[in-house]
Amino acid sequence: MRIGHGYDVHRLVPERKLILGGVDIPWEKGLLGHSDADVLTHALMDALLGAAALGDIGKLFPDNDPKYSGAYSIELLKEVCRVLESRGYGICNVDCTVLAQRPKLAPHIPLMRQRLAEAMGLDTDQVSVKATTEEGLGFTGEGLGIAAHAVALIEKSK
Ligand code: MG
Repeated sequence: MRIGHGYDVHRLVPERKLILGGVDIPWEKGLLGHSDADVLTHALMDALLGAAALGDIGKLFPDNDPKYSGAYSIELLKEVCRVLESRGYGICNVDCTVLAQRPKLAPHIPLMRQRLAEAMGLDTDQVSVKATTEEGLGFTGEGLGIAAHAVALIEKSK
């Protein structure tokens, strides 16, 4: 078994969609980025790649490649899973934490877990998503951005 950690941050700006864990969340701002800027899915992909010591998503999906402009990160997550599978790795479980002051994410977490689990071919009980505020402190607390951490456990299946 191998463990990996991922971390990502995106800036919150007006006139962008807020996509977290593949779920479109109605909010006055969204995350800025080359893809859909799904910070949760990005942290998760980095955790999975990190567990296999395969670098990070910047290496796999360069942000200067027009192919990934506006990309739905859930599709990129599927690609990461294909890469792991090709190396003989299966995913045991993942655990993610989103750091956001607003909006309230709790109502959206069940759907995020479902979307992420489907993309990875896992059961929802293998996929944990949690959300916390940072008590008004720092850039997430001030609503300037959203951050996410993820850990992933993988195992060699063949
Ligand atoms: Mg990112």
